[in-house]
Amino acid sequence: MTSFRTIPELLAAGEASRPAIRAPEGRPPLTYAGLRDLAERTVAALNRLGVGRGDRVAIVLPNGPEMAAAFVAIACGATTAPLNPAYRDEEFEFYLSDLGARALVIAQGMESPARAVAKRLGVPVLDLVPGAEAGSFALEGATGRGRAERPGMAEAEDVALVLHTSGTTARPKIVPLSHANVVASARHIRDTLALTPADACLNIMPLFHIHGLMAATLASLAAGGAVCCTPGFNALHFFRWLDAERPSWYTAVPTMHQAILARAPRNAEIIARARLRFLRSSSASLPAQVMRDLEAAFSAPVIESYGMTEAAHQMASNPLPPRPRKPGLVGLPAGPEIAIMDEAGNILPQGAVGEVVIRGPNVTRGYEANPEANAKAFTNGWFRTGDQGCFDAEGYLQLTGRLKELIKRGGEQVSPLEVDGVLCEHPAVAQALTFAIPHPMLGEEVGAAIVLREGMEATEREIRDFVAKHLADFKVPRKIVFLPEIPKGATGKLQRIGLAERLGITA
Ligand code: ATP
Ligand code: MG
Repeated sequence: MTSFRTIPELLAAGEASRPAIRAPEGRPPLTYAGLRDLAERTVAALNRLGVGRGDRVAIVLPNGPEMAAAFVAIACGATTAPLNPAYRDEEFEFYLSDLGARALVIAQGMESPARAVAKRLGVPVLDLVPGAEAGSFALEGATGRGRAERPGMAEAEDVALVLHTSGTTARPKIVPLSHANVVASARHIRDTLALTPADACLNIMPLFHIHGLMAATLASLAAGGAVCCTPGFNALHFFRWLDAERPSWYTAVPTMHQAILARAPRNAEIIARARLRFLRSSSASLPAQVMRDLEAAFSAPVIESYGMTEAAHQMASNPLPPRPRKPGLVGLPAGPEIAIMDEAGNILPQGAVGEVVIRGPNVTRGYEANPEANAKAFTNGWFRTGDQGCFDAEGYLQLTGRLKELIKRGGEQVSPLEVDGVLCEHPAVAQALTFAIPHPMLGEEVGAAIVLREGMEATEREIRDFVAKHLADFKVPRKIVFLPEIPKGATGKLQRIGLAERLGITA
């Protein structure tokens, strides 16, 4: 297959008449020819406004086909900065000035504090008006102000995308990703999943996060296939979309898979008719039991992958059948080179536990305007992921936790991931999140939040006894809270750090 190095080249490889972007319910798809045309018109409009290659365009749009198309089309000639539309005034103020945005693209009619903030900062606002086909649009409000310094189509080293990390462990950091980075990543994902023009991904992931932008959108386009863009995740509508759109796969974070799984029994007929070739899970650990339940419910393989913003998403992945998938492991390197490093910077032998480090064409050159974070993140050319893990004898990577999330209980270290895995084996447990509770003597104590399966009951005592059968005493959660739902971050990820404080739990 063609070895494109930029998004414009990637789009050029698609078959003109095939659908590239689709939407549920009604509108005709945007073909590759249509998307290429849209990209050219968009770049020309931005150039007329004085915005060109390397200039940042903030995007504030609801999830959906226009958001996917805007990302792709704007990236062809400028740097895209997709922002979460749920941000409040202060957040937009911070992000728009932090990014040095040269324009804001926002949905026409969308009431958002981003408008006022852009006005205050003197950032021109462009209204995105949807066209007839799914994802097609025009930009209005762009009055010509001269010429862009670097007009025309992007080159490989231009920055295609700046994103903030999810902020799971610290304040979000700005990650610039070049065309070379994102296109390499799209190719890795395409190859791992053996995507072809016949594939269609149902996107339920937010498009201001790397997962939806790369796995659902750009990997589909790198294969010449289609992405069907929903307005966002909704467990009720999911099955309707699955039935009406006949996607060949979808990708999600574990909390979404768990919500889908909870509704699977009453949608058995739809599942039986579905044509899913596989399901993909990434961005957080998928408990082994959830993977088994999903595979049983959908009669399709669940491919767990390991991704992060700084790697333009995918780093490792379980392979498709007939090669084995290993529940609880994130699979084989699937993109960058991966090694395990100790604190001193030595690469460790197979089997040893240490920090997961990566290097390769999809890895960012470094955080923006953050020399301190960069000094910590790069060692001898390797990028430190902050994740801890080891390789098994067959080269599969097992993550044992995030270095920042390890619970330090007295002299012992507890991997919250390991405890989550055991909690999820309990028949009454639908979802579990283990976290640290500050403790005056021990430093930290182990706590767990649990969501029970519908109609099931269990006491704190029963759950503790269950865990004690599988794990050493110091790993058994001392405090367990039962919740209807575990609070999530903007991208659907669970946040362990600070959870005790947020829930008001003390030792
Ligand atoms: P921040 O860096 O701001 O704290 P974040 O790391 O959560 O936020 P992302 O880039 O969205 O932001 O997530 C990457 C991280 O998600 C990885 O470093 C890893 O800890 C976790 N992760 C991704 N995929 C998996 C997986 N399959 N299993 C376990 N953890 C995963
Ligand atoms: Mg991170």
